[in-house]
Amino acid sequence: MRTSIRMAVAAACTLAFSGAVLAHSHHHDHDDVRHAGAHVHGEGKLNFATEGSELHMELMMPAHDILGFERITTHAQKQQLDKALAKLESENLWSLPAAAGCQLKTAHASTTKEVHVQDDHDHGHKHDDDHHHKHSGHDHHHDDHDAHDDGHMDISASYVYQCKDISQLNQFSTTLFESFPRSERIRVQGFTRSGQLSETMTPNQPQVRF
Ligand SMILES: [Zn+2]
Repeated sequence: MRTSIRMAVAAACTLAFSGAVLAHSHHHDHDDVRHAGAHVHGEGKLNFATEGSELHMELMMPAHDILGFERITTHAQKQQLDKALAKLESENLWSLPAAAGCQLKTAHASTTKEVHVQDDHDHGHKHDDDHHHKHSGHDHHHDDHDAHDDGHMDISASYVYQCKDISQLNQFSTTLFESFPRSERIRVQGFTRSGQLSETMTPNQPQVRF
């Protein structure tokens, strides 16, 4: 009798202990995710890959580098954001060799965090406009998630180019340092037919060769 109680207690303790371990590692994982998401102002990332006749690009930059701020609370800031997103989606951001005959098929830029501008009571008529902004239509119910964040925000953009002769695609350059002068460097990881490459683009060297 005693033994079985002791065993039951021991088992309960073991369960409680492993529960605690699980709870701890779960918590820890969250911390790691948050750390992995932290960014360095001035430094963006670009991943690209050639797939068949397509070039795929994923750009991730601190909102600071693009806007100079990372919290969007006013309509003026929201307008700056929308302008910047349009610039990021512009065909002029990247230059590819003419011989490759690449056409921009899709370009999409967005914040990695929900943005909701509080409406000023005196300007309630602006509310309807907000619902039609293409980058803010779905973010009204998620504000609470952002309440505990670290204040940083990233802006990401993805691009797909379709190329007539992808064998001629051996470099590209960008005008993003001119459009966004706060950006100091973009760390580039690429997967191409000739293998993997890791480079850094800077205002003085705004291109990648491969
Ligand atoms: Zn930041």
